[in-house]
Amino acid sequence: MTDTKAQPDRMAQPEHWFALDVDLDPVAEEAVDYALMEAGALGTETNETAERNLRISGYFSMTPERELVRAQLHEALRIYGLPSSSVREMSVREVKNRDWLAEWKESWQPVRVGRFVIAPPWAKIDDLPDQLIIRIEPGMAFGTGTHETTKLCLAAIEQYFAGGSFLDVGTGTGVLAIAAAKLFPTARVEACDTDIEAIEIARENGVANEVGNRITFRVGSVDDTTASADLVCANLTADVIVPLLPILLGTTCGRLILSGILESQVEILETHLAQHGVSVLQIKRDGEWVALIV
Ligand code: SAH
Repeated sequence: MTDTKAQPDRMAQPEHWFALDVDLDPVAEEAVDYALMEAGALGTETNETAERNLRISGYFSMTPERELVRAQLHEALRIYGLPSSSVREMSVREVKNRDWLAEWKESWQPVRVGRFVIAPPWAKIDDLPDQLIIRIEPGMAFGTGTHETTKLCLAAIEQYFAGGSFLDVGTGTGVLAIAAAKLFPTARVEACDTDIEAIEIARENGVANEVGNRITFRVGSVDDTTASADLVCANLTADVIVPLLPILLGTTCGRLILSGILESQVEILETHLAQHGVSVLQIKRDGEWVALIV
């Protein structure tokens, strides 16, 4: 099994790459991948080296700073609630002349969720009736369609959005807001993100998908002044969602989709929701990830 990921905007095609190989327990795959990208890797490659052992290689254009990588790994394992023993070994090697970008482009497959097809700009997609194509340049911000939580939210949007207004909290690439705008061309769509770069990318993606003039993108989060919406989607993380719950519930006229939640965190979320007199209507699952619809 080989899985490659890269950040094309950061690809300078240097002559030499430095690969940082990390051996790990498969449970830590996502956490290590995330940590390497956070530490400045331009791409990663995952290989199964033995039973219950993966090797993720992070590709860097300069010698990776071990201390930075170690700190990012530590933080990622903490976020994912994993023991430090799930990362086994780390070593650096030099790699010569690999055309990363070409390899990576070839490895990228469109993601299909219901009527939605999420694909990079260069992918050729067969014309099928009813499908809604969303073009996202991968590697720019969170939300390329490959993450379980994005897929869960897309499925929930198709199921629960009946037009009217949609609010996307933590829009990343803008993928969910674009999906809602494509599903209902007359809908009012608003999207926010605390990350200014994500909003710039989301705006560009909105334009590239010809829905730029129908989505209001803004830097920030939700507060008492946020306009309410028929469907609100918050694909954040449990620790961010919990303190935002009263505001998220207050801005929801119809349904609220909460994701970025791990199976092990469902009970905590249900307890907090119950304190606001709200119960869960449906739980959607993909691997260890869930989306709660309330
Ligand atoms: N909606 C996309 C991206 C989800 S990633 C998808 O489903 O794929 C979560 C995004 O939320 C990140 O871009 C992050 O910058 C943003 N974020 C984190 N905390 C936030 C907050 N309190 N309010 C708004 N956005 C937030």
